[in-house]
Amino acid sequence: MIPMKILDELKSIVTRETTEENESKKMAVLIRILCLTLIAFFAVTALAFTVIGRYSASLSYLVLAFLYLTIFALSFHAPKMVLVWTFIIMTTAWAIALLWLFGPDSSFQIFAPFVIIIFFFASYDSLRAKVIFAIATAIVYQGTSYLYGDRDPIYVLSVSTRHCIRDSNMFIIILCTCIAAHIFSKDSQVMEKKLIEYNKRLKEKANTDPLTGLNNRGMAMEYLQDFVKRANEEICSICICDIDHFKYVNDTFGHDIGDQVLKAVASAMSATVGDRGFVARWGGEEFFIAFPSLNGDEAKDILYSLQSAIRKTAVHTADQTVKVTLTYGLTEYDREKPLNANIKDADSKLYLGKERGRNTIIF
Ligand code: GH3
Ligand code: MG
Ligand code: MG
Repeated sequence: MIPMKILDELKSIVTRETTEENESKKMAVLIRILCLTLIAFFAVTALAFTVIGRYSASLSYLVLAFLYLTIFALSFHAPKMVLVWTFIIMTTAWAIALLWLFGPDSSFQIFAPFVIIIFFFASYDSLRAKVIFAIATAIVYQGTSYLYGDRDPIYVLSVSTRHCIRDSNMFIIILCTCIAAHIFSKDSQVMEKKLIEYNKRLKEKANTDPLTGLNNRGMAMEYLQDFVKRANEEICSICICDIDHFKYVNDTFGHDIGDQVLKAVASAMSATVGDRGFVARWGGEEFFIAFPSLNGDEAKDILYSLQSAIRKTAVHTADQTVKVTLTYGLTEYDREKPLNANIKDADSKLYLGKERGRNTIIF
């Protein structure tokens, strides 16, 4: 379609690189879009003045359109700050001309915040330079208003025409400010979103055991520290369990089958405990389970279910079926004792279970 083709062509012109090396083209693209928007606005205004028979006012707007067309052409070659200063000076001159031509009703002061925003976006200068620019702009606009605000305008227009000019100026400057704000906030918002996603993935990676997909030991410690910090009456049972004779599994069936067994045990654990607890790989073939709000007996019931789930869990080799058992050390978290002492408690019970022949729960 022809209009689409024209739009595509226009887009490729507006986004074209500048010939200046080492400079981002973003500011040039913004100035081009602003120039095109303003040129369209001037053309419509010139037409409107022609319709009401104000030919010299119409001519003024055509001259303005031509001047902004020059800035548009400049954007392909000029260094960024030359372009920005040209745009700011041109826009300020236009604002002052509005006061001269149409009087204080023309709302020319709204141009001040607009040029300040453009300067702030464009300049890599210090905050001091930006503040000086803002103050200087305020002085220029306010000073002009004091000096020329009471003069009779060159074009004496009807009240409704003056209001039309005021409202259209207001509209076009608000539109240009929105365009500038959008272009400059778009990239940082996209970057911010990407960074949040990236940090989330990084945190997940840092907290997850790569083989089993369970939380890792660091995450388990964080979980316990959070529990300790919650200074209330909340209870928790903790369990450390260990696969029995796992060295034998590795030695007999190979390390890869050993890995598969670890994964199968981990998924049986996650499925059985579900949202009743927190499961982590403590290290090697040891796992950690926390049961918040459950006393030892309640946690033990879940461990019985886990034992029966593990009994049904198997890894198949070409000609054999590999099954394992675990020994569990379970304790109720004692808030009177330090965190490590509680872990040691669960660990001691685990080793008691190993001594007593394995495949058992010691509470
Ligand atoms: P026990 O019943 O007393 O716990 O005996 P065990 O053989 O399970 O204990 P031991 O500590 O002697 O052996 C643990 C083995 O687990 C040794 C180690 O190579 C193996 N292991 C640790 N991490 C991994 C892993 O990620 N993958 C595999 N395949 N093996 C692992
Ligand atoms: Mg073991
Ligand atoms: Mg072990």
